[in-house]
Parts: sequence; structure tokens; C-alpha cells
Amino acid sequence: MPARRTAAMAVASQVRPYVGAVIFLVRRIAAVCVACAVFAACGAPNAPRGPEQRSARSSASASGEAALTPGSGGLMPVFKSARTQKKTIALTFDADMTADEGPRAADGERFDNPELIDALRELKVPATVFMTGRWADQYPEEARGIGQDPLFEVANHSYSHYSFTDGCYGLPVLPESRMRSDVERGFTAIRNAGVAHPMPYFRFPGGCYDNRALRALGPLGVTVVQWDVVSGDAFATDPDAVARQVLRGVRPGSVVVMHCTRSAAPVTEPAVRALVPELRRQGYRLVKVSELMGASGGGG
Ligand SMILES: [Zn+2]
Repeated sequence: MPARRTAAMAVASQVRPYVGAVIFLVRRIAAVCVACAVFAACGAPNAPRGPEQRSARSSASASGEAALTPGSGGLMPVFKSARTQKKTIALTFDADMTADEGPRAADGERFDNPELIDALRELKVPATVFMTGRWADQYPEEARGIGQDPLFEVANHSYSHYSFTDGCYGLPVLPESRMRSDVERGFTAIRNAGVAHPMPYFRFPGGCYDNRALRALGPLGVTVVQWDVVSGDAFATDPDAVARQVLRGVRPGSVVVMHCTRSAAPVTEPAVRALVPELRRQGYRLVKVSELMGASGGGG
């Protein structure tokens, strides 16, 4: 009996760590899969559609930055691409981190991508970075470095990376009463990190928005900047495939969505290194969103 019990205990002691490991693994996979869905949603081609893009006619805002004139009924204006014949496009990078991902960052997961920023500097690629406030809290020095580099401009991707509509890829949903404060908190976190002048642009997490969200955020006086080209860099493993997808998708005036989050977009840096020389060879000039939007005003 004691022998059997000892044997049983021995088996149990072998099984328990295994079961524990399996549970850990299952939890981990579940967490990663939720993140996959959420993150991939940022560049999802079939993201729920909001109102059609209004005229891309731009004007200078009070701060001198290109902005779209507000839509009717107090809705935020939405910019997805410029109407221009010039081969000018904007590469944009979402610096994603969701409000509840702090423990994962503490475990060593990297939501930043300094190698990507270095590559953009090396290749002299002007770019617009849509930063969540949570990301700026986590990586203030990197946020400041990006914000102080004239090559880049920093815009708002919410504080929490929660959704502004129901049914957005499993993202937690912000109630209407918290939509405006979440975006304001994003701007505050970005400024607190040392980015003195973030652009008055906002990109919806998951690309999900509707008229209710556009109306709730209307008083902020910012322009929504979405995209017309999905790079497919979320969880990609082949940088050349990402580069090819962008090359297939771009046209004059395009806005391309990519990510500045190593853990979930691990090949974005080599993809950019492959993509940029080819875009330039094809005659494309890379600019920040503000320049594309400004050019749009002249181009109609
Ligand atoms: Zn995002």
C-alpha cells in the first residue's frame, strides 16, 4: 500500500508539472490567439466599414497642420487615401499595446520595434506612427525619440487599444461615455512621454468605427486616418510576402498600414528594407500623412 501510494505520488508528481505546463501553454496560446485576432484586425481588409470617405479636401488647422474639414453633423472627418495623380504614398506604423498587456511586457514581451525605427532612419523614410497611450507609457524614451525626429510624426491610436464599436475582433469595447476621454488620455500619455506636438490625427483600433464613434469624438477636432493598403505584416513570417502585398496594393495617394510592434509583427523591419528601394525604383515618393493630406487639398 505505501509502495503503491509512493508510486502514485511519483506519477502524480510527474504529471502535475506536465499538466501545469499544458495549462500554461493553453493559456498562453489562448492569450496569443486573442492578440492575433486583435492585432491582425488593425490591418484587416474586411474591417467593419464606416461611412464612406468624405472628400479628401484638406485645410490647414489652427496649428498649421493639414487636416480635413469637419464632416456634417459634428462627425469626425475620415482620411483613407489622397486623391492625387502624383506617385506619393504614406507608410504608417501602428505602435500597438493594449491597456491590459502590461503583465506581458513585464514578462519580457516586446511591443516596440527599435530596429524598425532605425531602418526607417537609415533609409530616410518619412513615416507617421500611430501610438497608443499605453505604448507611450511603456516606452517613453522611444516615443520621445520618434516624436523629436523630424523624419517622423506621431499620432493617436487611442490610449487603451479598446474598440469603439461592438464586435471588433474580440477587443474590449469602450462605452460611448469613455470614447472621448480614452483618446484624450492617449494624447496626454504621448505628450507626457515627451512628444510635444502629436499630430491631430486618430486611428481607430481594429479599424472599427461607426457614426456613433465619429460623433462622440467629433468635439476633439481631430481627423481620422485609416488606410487603403493593408500590408499584412501582422504575424507575418515572410518579409518578401509583405513587401509584395504592399507593392500590389499601392497607387498614387495610398496610405499603407504596418506595425511597430515586434512581438506581433516580427518581420516588418526586413519587409521595409525590401519594400522601400522597390517603391522608389517605381517612382514613388514616401511622405508623412500630413504631407499626403496637404497635397490632397491641392489635388482635389
Ligand atoms: Zn492597432
